[in-house]
Amino acid sequence: MLELLGLVSLFVILFVWHGMSVAVGYHRGLSHRSFTCNKLVEYFFVLGAILGFQGSPIWWTTIHRSHHKFSDQPLDSHSPKHGFRFWDYGWFLKPNYPAHMDPHTQCPDLFKDPIYRFLEQDGDWVRAQWLTFFGIAVLGRAALIPIFGWKVALVGLLAGVTFFQLPLILNYVCHIPKLGYRTYATTDDSVNVWWLGLFAFGEGWHNNHHAFPAAARAGVQPHEFDLSWELLRLLKACGLVQRLNDVTPAQLARLDNRQNAETPVVEKVNAAASISTIAIVKGDALHAEENSSMPENDRVLTGTGSPR
Ligand SMILES: [Zn+2]
Ligand SMILES: [Zn+2]
Repeated sequence: MLELLGLVSLFVILFVWHGMSVAVGYHRGLSHRSFTCNKLVEYFFVLGAILGFQGSPIWWTTIHRSHHKFSDQPLDSHSPKHGFRFWDYGWFLKPNYPAHMDPHTQCPDLFKDPIYRFLEQDGDWVRAQWLTFFGIAVLGRAALIPIFGWKVALVGLLAGVTFFQLPLILNYVCHIPKLGYRTYATTDDSVNVWWLGLFAFGEGWHNNHHAFPAAARAGVQPHEFDLSWELLRLLKACGLVQRLNDVTPAQLARLDNRQNAETPVVEKVNAAASISTIAIVKGDALHAEENSSMPENDRVLTGTGSPR
């Protein structure tokens, strides 16, 4: 009985690690650069994300930045508008990056890291997936069997495989208008979904995130609990996170005017425009320090808010 309790607890701990690794590490960190931290903290989250079957950091970030650029348009990587196979599993079972995605152009900041370059395998989509999904997430766990035993390794695998479903669910549920509510008038179909807000580590406040992608905080109303934001605040208090972008008072003030908010929050880039262009939030300052290697219109959505 005690052993079972221990294994269940381990499953929960690992699931939360994978969840926070994606929400904080891959998403708010690498994809949006909404905070800065030292490399050890970053790698801790990257490892959790890879073991959660999320693939190479550059691959994930390239796709996610494209998602913001083409949200719910034909070139969106995983919009529910394109049918089940497309949004659920079809988009990552591809042999190559689609023509409109170029990791070198969209993620030059991540190519500076030799570990991320290695994990990306020179942009070879299939090789990178074999390395991360099978080589690290499966064989890596198997290598731990002599140390921790097969039960622990199996629980780890189950936690990773189970977690793998969560971002897929989030990708489509949070882009189906009838399944949530919209606080901000973004130009996509993103909605806030309360149960994903609570159980997906704050990532379910997705309409808020599409409105303020540069902020490290997705929950903005009192009932919108955002576990990832709370963790980031804790890490900042401990000195493990340095810059941390909150939503600005002006952005928060839009809450009061949202019923009249007809103006799109995100200035969408025309899909026919340069593939290297990433949507830029109106009025938001860009953090040139992390993105200085990018052409001005390639810079990642980073934030604005006053650091806490
Ligand atoms: Zn989205
Ligand atoms: Zn995002």
